[in-house]
Amino acid sequence: MTPRIIHTVSELRTAINEQRKNGRCITFVPTMGALHEGHLSLAKAARDWQYETANDTKPNCVVASLFVNPTQFGPNEDFAKYPRTLEKDVELLSTVETEIVFVPEVETMYPPNWETYVEVGSIAEPLEGKHRPGHFRGVATVVLKLFNMVTPDVAFFGQKDFQQVCVIRKMVDDLNVPVKLIICPTIREPDGLAMSSRNRYLTPKERADALVLYKSLEKAEKLIHEEHVLDTAVIRAEMRKIIETAENTVVDYISIADPKTLVELEQVTPSRSIVLLLAVKIGTTRLIDNRVV
Ligand code: AMP
Repeated sequence: MTPRIIHTVSELRTAINEQRKNGRCITFVPTMGALHEGHLSLAKAARDWQYETANDTKPNCVVASLFVNPTQFGPNEDFAKYPRTLEKDVELLSTVETEIVFVPEVETMYPPNWETYVEVGSIAEPLEGKHRPGHFRGVATVVLKLFNMVTPDVAFFGQKDFQQVCVIRKMVDDLNVPVKLIICPTIREPDGLAMSSRNRYLTPKERADALVLYKSLEKAEKLIHEEHVLDTAVIRAEMRKIIETAENTVVDYISIADPKTLVELEQVTPSRSIVLLLAVKIGTTRLIDNRVV
């Protein structure tokens, strides 16, 4: 199926209303494009999703958006050089039955008189929030705007961006946004590197080095599960050692935190899950990864 590409909000609203009148569930996958298997796994989940109680077999109307959102990039970040691969993205989405692809212009999302931001509270402050000031304000704002335009019944996000999921959950709860959120697992390359649109910035040497993120998460899980190490300072130090075996790496953070609050933990409690979160620069490319243990 060739998806219908829509650029304006009014055309989008008309198309969505038509589908809703036909009794179809609107499922939504927001992205910045430069799609890979991780994004496509969300689109497949959006295609296949069903309410537990549903015995209606009408296919979902899957909507994806492709928009490189300027408000979530800092002044020294990669907004200008972020990969834009519209034709390829649409072709990939056509393989997973995506019906509508919303591709707004920057001026459509942010007309000259636009002024309102969504500020999410404490969950947006540590980790990415600290290293990328304003990032989550931009994410929450664009996601709420997209929700208001697409009016999805269900929206799909990747666990790859763990804190982003926490931020969007909080926004949806706090602002009573009528959408159900589904979180999909991180899709990885065969060697373990989490798929990311930014992986294409890596040189072959850096691509090999980037595996230290995955290896350090593996090591931490092993320390906790097999060696029963509970002191997070010890675990963090071991993770850092692995990351620093690669040249030209700068660790932004290694966090061992409560998965609900992202509050840093001193000790692992065996009966409770924790989340390991990493942000590392490999050369000039900043990568993030995480694992719930
Ligand atoms: P992005 O285009 O990077 O903003 O990502 C759009 C959506 O795809 C977000 O919900 C991401 O969490 C999700 N995503 C990105 N990479 C992956 C991955 N490797 N596996 C699963 N989901 C992903």
